[in-house]
Amino acid sequence: METQSEAREALKVISLMYHDVVEGGAHEQSGFGGADAALYKMEQGQFRKHLRAIAGAVRESPARVFELQADARASRPWLLTFDDGGVSAYTCIAGMLEEFGWRGHFFVTANYVGSPSFLSGAQIKELHRRGHVIGSHSASHPERMSHCSPEEMLREWAESVARLSDIVGERVRVASVPGGFYSARVAKAAARAGIEMLFTSEPTSAGRSVDGCMVLGRYTIRRSTTAEAVAAIAAGRVAPRLKQLLLWNAKKVTKALGGRYYLKARKSLLGQG
Ligand SMILES: [Zn+2]
Repeated sequence: METQSEAREALKVISLMYHDVVEGGAHEQSGFGGADAALYKMEQGQFRKHLRAIAGAVRESPARVFELQADARASRPWLLTFDDGGVSAYTCIAGMLEEFGWRGHFFVTANYVGSPSFLSGAQIKELHRRGHVIGSHSASHPERMSHCSPEEMLREWAESVARLSDIVGERVRVASVPGGFYSARVAKAAARAGIEMLFTSEPTSAGRSVDGCMVLGRYTIRRSTTAEAVAAIAAGRVAPRLKQLLLWNAKKVTKALGGRYYLKARKSLLGQG
């Protein structure tokens, strides 16, 4: 067991965090509504440009996270993740990835399954059947996961894992933290709920183990991210990744000063305050 956990400690992977892909600026088509969420929603044509640019910059196809454990020495592993569980995972994204022979990770907010603009149970099952990885993105997408009580955290992970496992017909072992509100307690609760791999929004390629759960960072891809930038990140170039890390550290300081203030300031900047 010790050897395995040491191997996990050494896990290094470049993970890209996307959300929804929409057409003609119709941001309400898929996933959560609002100006904040729209910052992460990509136009179809732009997403295709991203995929082409990445394909031209990397040597390997994107990994699936559980294959990484089996082959930790793969040259420069990278992978694709999509948060929230918006319906575009099924209507658009999966098919576009498959044109490249690629598979992605779809992190689903369990309480929204079957709601308008979100994936249905049948669609999730179909994505799983086609080789994509289905994971949890919590049950209710709490505004600040790291501020929930330990009981609430455990419930968010355990209930979502149970619901999604039931849908795909096998145990769901992977998850991503909603809103990037990560703390060690969030990972400990995930580990208790049987989650073995937990993706955060910290822009790093280095994994670390918390109570046997592998915590992996991700590079955030926004509507404004260019194809050149995303290709450089996927290919492992240092400069664009360092830039994200510096910005993230600055934001972390603001969040530490007061999560509530951070959310309010962010909303008012986006004209929702
Ligand atoms: Zn989310």
